[in-house]
Parts: sequence; structure tokens; C-alpha cells
Amino acid sequence: MTRMNYCPQCASPLARRFDGGRERIACLAEGCGFIYFGDFSIGCAGVVVRPRGNEIEALLVQRGQNPFAGTWQIPGGYAEHDEVLSLAVEREVQEEAGIVATVSDVVAFRHALAGSSGGPSTNVYFIFRLNYVSGEPQHDGDEIAAAGFYTLDEMEDIEGVQGLSKWGIRQVLGSKSGSGLSVTSMGDPNTWQIYGLGEGDSR
Ligand SMILES: [Zn+2]
Repeated sequence: MTRMNYCPQCASPLARRFDGGRERIACLAEGCGFIYFGDFSIGCAGVVVRPRGNEIEALLVQRGQNPFAGTWQIPGGYAEHDEVLSLAVEREVQEEAGIVATVSDVVAFRHALAGSSGGPSTNVYFIFRLNYVSGEPQHDGDEIAAAGFYTLDEMEDIEGVQGLSKWGIRQVLGSKSGSGLSVTSMGDPNTWQIYGLGEGDSR
């Protein structure tokens, strides 16, 4: 059970209130109305592929820190609360692997309840296809222990490649670029995004 004693909006002591079919932690202070609906987070990760001769190689990073230190995965992380997803995933790819890549489309997402994937919050994790632009894999040696481009065959010989990452790479290799959910330009693209099927407009 979540330990929350004070309202994050008005600092009054929290109580409980029946809302939406269940009892929830809530603030009963007049004029506040805060209700705790749970702990949610949004993650994103990018599949960046590029040709190597007749083969295709995909970008992987090795986690340097727990949870799951030593395992390999496609680069990614949490989106900040004030950051749109497509920019979050481009940032994570650049921060973790030193690769500049631009979002093409969303190929899959995972919904995991709190704790089931090792995280503290119920999480939606989007897997993007990105177009490689420039750079060679680099890593900071701390959060990320190693980074590189590998073919699926090579990944078979690397210990601890996350199954979901390999699955995401196969989703990308088995579908046409842009065939997933693409950002369409409606409204302010820096504050809200709509993802739809078909050819997306540029961000
Ligand atoms: Zn309150």
C-alpha cells in the first residue's frame, strides 16, 4: 500500500474517499479535490537499425546499474512529465548510445502493472522505430556499461539480451518503415502528440 500522509497539492492530511468504484487515498480539504489514482509512468525505447553489408544490425546498450545490471537492451528510459514521447526516445538514444536518430513510428507497446517488470509504477513502454542519422556507439561507463550495433545472429551469442528488446527488433525488421503509429502534426507538437496509422507528417 502506498504510504502517503499529506496532500501533494495543498499539504493537508490525507484521508480516504469512495470514488470510481473503489476506496482511494484522497484529500478532503475544501477546494482541493486531490485523489490518488496510483503511480503511473511512461517509458520509451528505440530500435535503431542500419545495414552492414547484406545484413541489418540493431543498436543495443548494456545496463551498468541495477535493476538488471549487465543485461542488454534497446536504448530507452522514462519520458519526463514535460517531454513529448518522440523527443524523449530520441534523447534517450543519444544519451545512452551517442547515436543521433529520428523517430519513424511506434511498432509496439507493453503495459505492465507495478512490480511485474521490476519497476515501482504501472508502466506503459512504447517501442519506436528510429531512422539512424549519425554517430558511432559510445557509452558513459556508468549507467551504460557498453553499446554497439549487432545483428540478430550476433545477439544469440551475447548473454543477457532482453527478450522484449529482441522481439521489438524483430517487429521492426518484419514491417515497413512508417507502417506503425506515426506522429501527425495537429496542435502544438511540443506539448501534445497524436499517433495514428498511415504516413505521418513530420514532427
Ligand atoms: Zn489537498
